Amino acid sequence: MILGCIADDFTGATDLANNLVRAGMRVVQTIGVPGGPSPAPDGATPSEVPGLAEVDAVVVALKSRTAPVEQAVAQSLAAARWLRARGARQLYFKVCSTFDSTPRGNIGPVAEALRAEVGAGIAIVTPAFPETGRTVYKGHLFVGDVLLSDSPMRHHPLTPMTDANLVRVLQAQLAATRCALLERRTVAQGAAAARARLAALETEGFAFAVADAVEDADLHVLAEAAQDAALVVSGSGLAIGIPARHGLAPSAQAARLPAALGARAVVSGSCSAATNAQVSDFIGRGGTAFAVDPLRLAAGQDVAGEALAWARPRLGPQPVLVYATAAPEAVRAVQEQLGAQRAGELVEHALARVAQGLVQAGVGQLVVAGGETSGACVQALGISALRIGPQIDPGVPWCHAPCALRPQGLHLALKSGNFGGTAFFTRAFEVLT
Ligand code: ADP
Repeated sequence: MILGCIADDFTGATDLANNLVRAGMRVVQTIGVPGGPSPAPDGATPSEVPGLAEVDAVVVALKSRTAPVEQAVAQSLAAARWLRARGARQLYFKVCSTFDSTPRGNIGPVAEALRAEVGAGIAIVTPAFPETGRTVYKGHLFVGDVLLSDSPMRHHPLTPMTDANLVRVLQAQLAATRCALLERRTVAQGAAAARARLAALETEGFAFAVADAVEDADLHVLAEAAQDAALVVSGSGLAIGIPARHGLAPSAQAARLPAALGARAVVSGSCSAATNAQVSDFIGRGGTAFAVDPLRLAAGQDVAGEALAWARPRLGPQPVLVYATAAPEAVRAVQEQLGAQRAGELVEHALARVAQGLVQAGVGQLVVAGGETSGACVQALGISALRIGPQIDPGVPWCHAPCALRPQGLHLALKSGNFGGTAFFTRAFEVLT
């Protein structure tokens, strides 16, 4: 392993892993620190991390973005130790591309703890990813055409971002170290100039440098400048420049997964606009589908059992869809009766049981729609590590995972809310063949 990554949330981890694979690295993503306490009280037994010797990078997915700061630090340090014990030469602390954090953290405290742990010199910090509309100029983060502080992130329920000046934001979170700015005009001069500037800042006593990047080319310069750094702190953007620093080029080989076998199914618990369109598109093409009604779940009916009984005789090369996805009015009506949290839990639990039953019945290629829904299904299936394969749509790759319920392993695509084109549920399976 060359690169050890610590991501502060699950979909961010997949986004990073996907970028590394597209740039030529072979990547495994783990769910939590391997060997850590199993998060699944009623899930299957987690399986071992597969094929570590054959990968270039491991991405440990944590849920530390909004966790209590001490917990975020402890989890991140555990991940760092696990990765370094397995040969990681560089640590990549993956943060959100909108730098989601509170005045207490968690980006600053975690970055400080990681830097102390690995004895790193100055570490670059950048959430920039120009291709996806995240740019940093004079330390200020832009989301599309507007400053972070003018973007909808201003009103985020957990991590409202009211200041776009990342040097100031990060400095406020740092307890014992100082943060500088690596300006675009230096980055534009190339890696040698950037490295020289970083060295000078380090001599002046700075521990971190927020790095400007306004074009994807800047990220390649930064990856080169940080090539020998023990720690980088970034969104998923910097990843596009790292594999080339290790002599790796984009290749189909990096994304190769075992041959896909078994029946095909989709389980959908996302109610986003994109997923609603994807469900309609699937059904509109004549796809066969079973709707899970949350009110029947609340009444104690065995809807998961019914869904499985319905699905079993239909399993084969034509995918079956089991969905709770509903339009906003319908979701609101359910939530008014059950409460949003209870409705969510009932549906997640039922869909996770359906995913388990489908795999036990022979499904080997499974698409799950919804971030929370994916988390519930992955736990129920006892999955603890995923080898990252080819991309279906931006940000959503196929993965292959050892699975306690299926000895030959499972092909899995985990799609969070608004990701994916309208024909996603059809296209996904075409990518595998
Ligand atoms: P997304 O990635 O789109 O946010 P999630 O799976 O993270 O999707 O969240 C969707 C939430 O909505 C889950 O908790 C799910 O159980 C819940 N849910 C799904 N269908 C319904 C429904 N018909 N009524 C109420 N809640 C639902």
